[in-house]
Amino acid sequence: MSAVPADVPGSQAWFDRARGVTPGGVNSPVRAFAAVGGTPRFMASGAGAWLTDVDGNSYVDLVCSWGPMLLGHAHPEVIEAVTRAIARGTSYGTPTTTEVELAAEIVGRTPIDKVRLVSSGTEATMSAIRLARGFTGRDLVVKFAGCYHGHVDSLLASAGSGLATLGVSSTPGVPASAAAQTIVLPYNDRAAVEAAFAEHGDAIACLITEASPGNMGVVPPEPGFNAFLAEICHRHGALFVSDEVMTGFRVSRSGQWGTDGAVEGWTPDLMTFGKVMGGGFPAAAFGGRSDVMALLSPEGPVYQAGTLSGNPVATAAGLATLRLADESVYAQVDDVAATISKESSAALTEAGVPHVLQSNGNMFSIFFGDLPPVRDYATAQTQDVAGFKAFFHAMLDAGVYLPPSAYEAWFVSSAHDDRAVQQVLDALPAAATAAARVSTGSTSEERA
Ligand SMILES: *Cc1c(COP(=O)(O)O)cnc(C)c1O
Repeated sequence: MSAVPADVPGSQAWFDRARGVTPGGVNSPVRAFAAVGGTPRFMASGAGAWLTDVDGNSYVDLVCSWGPMLLGHAHPEVIEAVTRAIARGTSYGTPTTTEVELAAEIVGRTPIDKVRLVSSGTEATMSAIRLARGFTGRDLVVKFAGCYHGHVDSLLASAGSGLATLGVSSTPGVPASAAAQTIVLPYNDRAAVEAAFAEHGDAIACLITEASPGNMGVVPPEPGFNAFLAEICHRHGALFVSDEVMTGFRVSRSGQWGTDGAVEGWTPDLMTFGKVMGGGFPAAAFGGRSDVMALLSPEGPVYQAGTLSGNPVATAAGLATLRLADESVYAQVDDVAATISKESSAALTEAGVPHVLQSNGNMFSIFFGDLPPVRDYATAQTQDVAGFKAFFHAMLDAGVYLPPSAYEAWFVSSAHDDRAVQQVLDALPAAATAAARVSTGSTSEERA
């Protein structure tokens, strides 16, 4: 087992310097370790399942860049595709062939007719909502508490993820008028959805949902819930926007829709993608029905654009990643996720730590505490964050890099081989014991 020293002077020095020039020392809030304490690790390199920090400590990576690295870090064929692309120049501001091939790969794996490439998941959801409003001529957007769709003004209400981690429910800077256009409902609650549509149905442009939420921890839709959402939107002339930025090309080759709509026979009107499809570069997309997408400029009047949209290097990385992501990759990722999730749960049980393991295919997370099954954000918020924090640090000390937040999914890659998995398994008993010491649900005897 590779122990990481308590002291990480390199990361600490860089963090101090970073705080002098960047708010909180980070460029995305959860990276700062605010929820778990301690020094965020400045990573210097990644290879396969492993990350190495600036002090030379290595970790098995269970974050995978928050989802994108389905094939692991520095996959040789992705690096080769990127290297070849870079040698041809990095951006032209013209159409390129790789964009077309990536778009075709996305359309080929999903039920959408047309797709537009953008640079981040935030841009994808923001643009999808503008398009839904332009298409319907309506303003209201329905979202679910605990679902994160990027930092779009109208979508930041009860947005899970980083806001949940930092304990903020809403953010200054979003105009009241933008918030007033958003209806926030409890997840998995059909009655609440029925009531919202009964009251506002003819003013709702779209309902947006994570296809299977992973930003309040993993909280899968109850069977038939997405089909119900598609149907009620259809009934009221609203668009159903399925956000697959996290799940797309990760939980299956066709994302969550591949195990859900493809089986039950329904399709979203619009979908959003990001993370895996960029192969570790800033690339994302939104797409859907051809009659809706036809409204987008230059074909239609709804404006949307991007200087670096469809960037030749990013699309080369995304295309190489998707072409490599075949059934054997998903089988390997599913298998590793099953092993790590089950063994983590078993170690916690063994140590007497109450918890709930939830998974959706190869995405999973563990809610610490004596909870019922977590079907919504309100329940997720009752988890024992102190238990997670102790577990997180013990794992980190043993060379396993978990998401530094109790509200995030854990991710693995097809590069997580036996050696990487074994390092995780070896770290579990001590981490479970550390959690038992602080866990609110355990008996005093177990705590002693
Ligand atoms: C990560 C994520 C986003 C935002 O994507 P960014 O690239 O971080 O802007 C949107 N929706 C979901 C479901 C996500 O997981």
